[in-house]
Amino acid sequence: MANVIAIDGPSGAGKSSVSRIVGQRLGYLHVDSGALYRIITWQCLENGVNTDSPEEIGAFAEKVDIECRPENGAIAYYVGGEAPGNRIRTPEINAHASKVAREKPVRDRITAILRGMTRYGNLVIEGRDITTAVFPDSPARFYLTASAEARARRRQKEEVEKGIANQSAEAVKASLLARDAIDSTRKYAPLKKADGAIEIDSSDLTLDEVVETVMRALPKEWTAA
Ligand code: C5P
Repeated sequence: MANVIAIDGPSGAGKSSVSRIVGQRLGYLHVDSGALYRIITWQCLENGVNTDSPEEIGAFAEKVDIECRPENGAIAYYVGGEAPGNRIRTPEINAHASKVAREKPVRDRITAILRGMTRYGNLVIEGRDITTAVFPDSPARFYLTASAEARARRRQKEEVEKGIANQSAEAVKASLLARDAIDSTRKYAPLKKADGAIEIDSSDLTLDEVVETVMRALPKEWTAA
């Protein structure tokens, strides 16, 4: 059985950077589970699916052609043979993703895809429900958080650097908080700190400090050279 490091938390808490580095250090594949929810959202919008209609989303969830494959230390995703790239990172996708992610057929499909990834080897997976619903039995579960201001600052900087958008920090904060509210109150697999997960507040920590905190908390046999 593969080892799975599970890292949950709200948007902009630093999950991606931390999981990427931990993955590189250990040779574990990095898995961005949010990208799968973004892909289904993107495909809903491309195909005229009404994201306010649970029935339409539910019926469409199975139809999206998603291919997953290990590439350069991470699981890469292809839709109809194409990499989605920054098309799944826009403010429009941000505005619709949480509505799509609350639907059970979407969650069931993505949960099955994520569980199946253990066939590729050891994984470090980031998301909202990895510690609570997807891999609740992992001995390495983390809840990464930060103040809303710190999270909005990071996301805004990232959007500008990647040329995705040029929104004010206030607009980014409003969008993050709107998503967090839907993610943490939904019926199926809401975002919350799992019992037994290690909580790390990254507001005043450097990336290195967060990575070290995670590395120190892993089962010893996972980090032995
Ligand atoms: O992590 P990211 O911001 O890319 O996730 C986009 C959205 O996907 C989240 O706001 C959430 O609604 C959903 N998501 C989820 N469960 C996960 C990962 C993401 O519901 N494990």
